[in-house]
Amino acid sequence: MVDRTQLLQSFDALLQPERFRDYGPNGLQVEGCLTVHKIVSGVSASRSLIEAAIAAGADTVFVHHGLFWRSQDGRVTGWMKQRLSLLLAHDINLFAYHLPLDAHPELGNNAQLGMKLGLKMTGRFGEQDLGFLGEPMQAAGFDSAEMLAKHVEQCLDRRVELVNVAANRIRKIGWCSGGGQNYFEAAIAAGADAFITGEISEPQAHYARESGVAYLACGHHASERFGAPAVAAHVAAQLGLQHQFIEIENPA
Ligand SMILES: [Zn+2]
Repeated sequence: MVDRTQLLQSFDALLQPERFRDYGPNGLQVEGCLTVHKIVSGVSASRSLIEAAIAAGADTVFVHHGLFWRSQDGRVTGWMKQRLSLLLAHDINLFAYHLPLDAHPELGNNAQLGMKLGLKMTGRFGEQDLGFLGEPMQAAGFDSAEMLAKHVEQCLDRRVELVNVAANRIRKIGWCSGGGQNYFEAAIAAGADAFITGEISEPQAHYARESGVAYLACGHHASERFGAPAVAAHVAAQLGLQHQFIEIENPA
């Protein structure tokens, strides 16, 4: 067991939140007990995850999507009241790291998604360097965008939305986990033949067709499942804590 402040220092040292301009606070979002034994990691601080963490005997929850975002009006009503009351009643610490968790070069969402898809990172692009550029481990690449889409579907066990099946042989691939649609133009500029992210919005379909670069939307949740458990497991091992990842199914 360790002191909560020591745990915070370990997460901060690893993820360096001070380097990012983010949409919400990174680090300890809700203060619980001082002494920590067990971390449950998950993608989002939903009520289901908090309930599952309580059932699993955790005193600490570590997530990518925390409770507080810049766009909120700050009222503690409805779902916010429910989630906060569960955390406070059970004295559970909530740690959340958003962009720093996307960006970490080995344990972050993008690095782990790349590993899952068999891509090796050769460079970074886009705002705050959150876009990853790389190549498939097998040097020949994929013969077509459809083959790449099939590969991603198999790796993530989920349907992929592919725009621009006409893309040529895929060698350079750009990716940005979660809601990374706004990184598409930077991926095109960086020379990607295909771009993989969680979501698609209306303009990207046109950019894909007009640029000749394939666009693959493989799910916000589905592309961000890997960073939180990788970081939490790493820090838990460092400090001798228990850790368990809990997947809360999400169609997105
Ligand atoms: Zn996200």
